Amino acid sequence: TTSKTTEIIEQTQKYGANNYYPLPIVISKAEGVWVESPEGTRYMDMLSAYSAVNQGHRHPKIIQALKDQADKVTLTSRAFHNDQLGTWYEKVCKITNKNMALPMNTGAEAVETALKAARRWGYDVKGIAENQAEIIACNGNFHGRTMGAVSLSSDPEYKRGFGPMLPGIKLIPYGDLEALKAAITPNTAAFLLEPIQGEAGIIVPPAGFLKAASDLCKENNVLFICDEIQAGLGRTGKMFAYEWEGIEPDMLILGKALGGGVFPISCVVANSDILGVFNPGSHGSTFGGNPLACAVSIAALEVIEEEKLAERSLELGNYFLEQLRAINNPAIKEIRGKGLFIGVELTEEARPYCEQLKDKGLLCKETHDTVIRLAPPLIITKEEIDWAVEKIKEVLA
Ligand code: PLP
Repeated sequence: TTSKTTEIIEQTQKYGANNYYPLPIVISKAEGVWVESPEGTRYMDMLSAYSAVNQGHRHPKIIQALKDQADKVTLTSRAFHNDQLGTWYEKVCKITNKNMALPMNTGAEAVETALKAARRWGYDVKGIAENQAEIIACNGNFHGRTMGAVSLSSDPEYKRGFGPMLPGIKLIPYGDLEALKAAITPNTAAFLLEPIQGEAGIIVPPAGFLKAASDLCKENNVLFICDEIQAGLGRTGKMFAYEWEGIEPDMLILGKALGGGVFPISCVVANSDILGVFNPGSHGSTFGGNPLACAVSIAALEVIEEEKLAERSLELGNYFLEQLRAINNPAIKEIRGKGLFIGVELTEEARPYCEQLKDKGLLCKETHDTVIRLAPPLIITKEEIDWAVEKIKEVLA
């Protein structure tokens, strides 16, 4: 007899577009750091839906907010006001220390919003000549899958067959200040980067780079934009990864854990001298700022604060790193990361290791071929990390 899992995977493969390569497991239930297959096999989640589930699966407070709001109103469109959006604006602005926010739904949409804001700021405020604005981004970046986001990418596979790409984009090596200096022209509107590159394999820039790059942008009247969609909201042991160098970006982009893994919501946050470039009719989204997303997001942000998830990530991340670094295996090239945002780079393909870890009950996903990403929900306990380390040792030691 075929199992429920096999049936579901076959159905998925029969009708689904082939744009993902998932591990062959089905998740039909989840709670906290644990997920479960239809047959009742339990796994520890070491991916957290690419950091969207920082608060843990189905956090009770977030689920309650979802249920309560679902009983009132879920969608108004922005043709009318709703009673959740104002509170959400205030919450997001307080947390980010900015005075203006713009809600969207997915990360890529928020990146698009940031690109539009930066270009319009370039024309309306900086005075760049029409259609000449340039955006600088970094090799290895991941900002999503929309045309704007893939135009930023240096990965040929993300772009193949999708051209023509957006013009006005320059790429520099990640962490290379001299290259940034050389790339800036009077037409540069913004420098956009991930403060730690996630999809590239948890790449931490050289110490001092964020600060120096931010200073350089200030000197040249270039917006410094941090994509904190994956690294932000507690993941790296700080509320935002840019805090590691004590800087204040001009604009930040949030997503993923902003909705606690419960409902999609993303946003761009900046001060009004920048985000004020939008006027009615210039940008929007039917679902952007919907009351259900806002109610969920307020709860999701409260959970991060109340449960001190950033502090927790720092402490447990350091512990996890220490345990991992004690593993002796020549196949391990480097172990790096900040907080519970850890990459184990191997000298060989990571996929077979991820498959073995899955058989031991640990769900990891390889990133960029040779890196195992370890990024559990931030509510994970020390005992659960010990359990994970044991499994990792069985496969890697
Ligand atoms: N930016 C970063 C840094 C990301 O890691 C991601 C997703 O992995 C995105 C943008 C795109 O977000 P979404 O998949 O919600 O469009």
